[in-house]
Amino acid sequence: MHDFNYKHNNLYCESVSIEELAGKYGTPLYVYSRNTLISHYRKIKEAFSAINPLICFSMKANSNFSICKALVKEGAGLDIVSGGELYRALKTGVASKKIVYAGVGKTEKEIEIAIRHHIFFFNVESIPELELINKVAARLGIQQKVAIRINPDVKASTHKYITTGHGENKFGIDFETARKIFLERNRYKNLSISGIHMHIGSQIVEAGPFIRAMERVVDFIRDLESHGAGVRWLNIGGGLGIIYSEERPQTAKEYAKAVLPVLKKAKANIIMEPGRFIAGNAGVLVTKVQYIKETPRKKFAIVDAGMNDLIRPNLYGAYHEILPVKSCSYSNSEEIKIFDVVGPICESGDFLGKDRKFIGLKEGDLLSVMGAGAYGFSMSSNYNSRPRVSEVMVDGSKVKLIRSRETYEDLIRTEL
Ligand code: PLP
Repeated sequence: MHDFNYKHNNLYCESVSIEELAGKYGTPLYVYSRNTLISHYRKIKEAFSAINPLICFSMKANSNFSICKALVKEGAGLDIVSGGELYRALKTGVASKKIVYAGVGKTEKEIEIAIRHHIFFFNVESIPELELINKVAARLGIQQKVAIRINPDVKASTHKYITTGHGENKFGIDFETARKIFLERNRYKNLSISGIHMHIGSQIVEAGPFIRAMERVVDFIRDLESHGAGVRWLNIGGGLGIIYSEERPQTAKEYAKAVLPVLKKAKANIIMEPGRFIAGNAGVLVTKVQYIKETPRKKFAIVDAGMNDLIRPNLYGAYHEILPVKSCSYSNSEEIKIFDVVGPICESGDFLGKDRKFIGLKEGDLLSVMGAGAYGFSMSSNYNSRPRVSEVMVDGSKVKLIRSRETYEDLIRTEL
């Protein structure tokens, strides 16, 4: 599943000890395993080899330049949602014909830059957006490919903040409106409306919701075809869940086995946008215990990483396993204590884990917050004026600093 393992009670990333990394680069620190990252990309590629899809890594999961570049080198395209992500994407050297652009609020400026760079597809989320892309493309004299993002109105069994394909969500366009767009697509003179896009949510651990959504979309494509409006590309989004705790998510192979029969009926080229599946288990957040605080009600391990470094527990009540970097080989039950692992931020919601068992945990110990490679650093902030942390990538026994720690100067650099 990943390359973070204990050797003689010390946690390693591939061949490098986490303790050594923390000593050299300080804490908090994001540590990524290149092998875990690439092997998860390959798992999807192999599972879907029968249809050879374009796999666009969803940059929002982890937009670090070195992470994206490593995947681009493997052949991945990139799924972006902003002008900033487009800027980063182009810096990786990815072919612009492998960039797809989703998001409900693209600005005219962002649209113009993306068209000028000849990106592959805009995944369009509303009629006003469609009109605007057509207008900008006309001004630039460019014919732009677009896919209509369908909201298939299915419930995905995941946290309500990360479901995106239900009728009440802000994403995508309902079938009826999409049908009208396709049947009148000649109205949009500078657009080639040739794709359908869907993304029903994230951290979905079972095939059911994907199949239900894809069946609806494929029926829709066949209906359009029978009315002379062929669809050449089908983008099935991302959403594949990973193991954080007790989940038993489908593997890439199981997912492919479940959805391939449906997808083949679409007779379209397939695009995918996985993020979490590729990067999630490839990264950990290493943090140091600053204080052990005992109150009459609770024990707290106060660590140097906070919700500004990893917001998922606060935002979604997400569970991340928290492991000691040096594990104890004995388990004297008297030494087992239960802690809330909390950060230094001035919010009671600033926690990384609640009611976690540790053996002999003490001040100065290092902890590793697992499964932090996706929506970890990319969602981090400077809240409480905390500089954002360093990131390193391990490749076998080699280590590369891929982002240096911000300084206090960085905090005020753009303020006037
Ligand atoms: N595509 C779109 C349009 C998304 O909004 C997201 C995530 O929110 C993704 C792909 C990636 O999802 P995941 O990381 O669950 O694979």
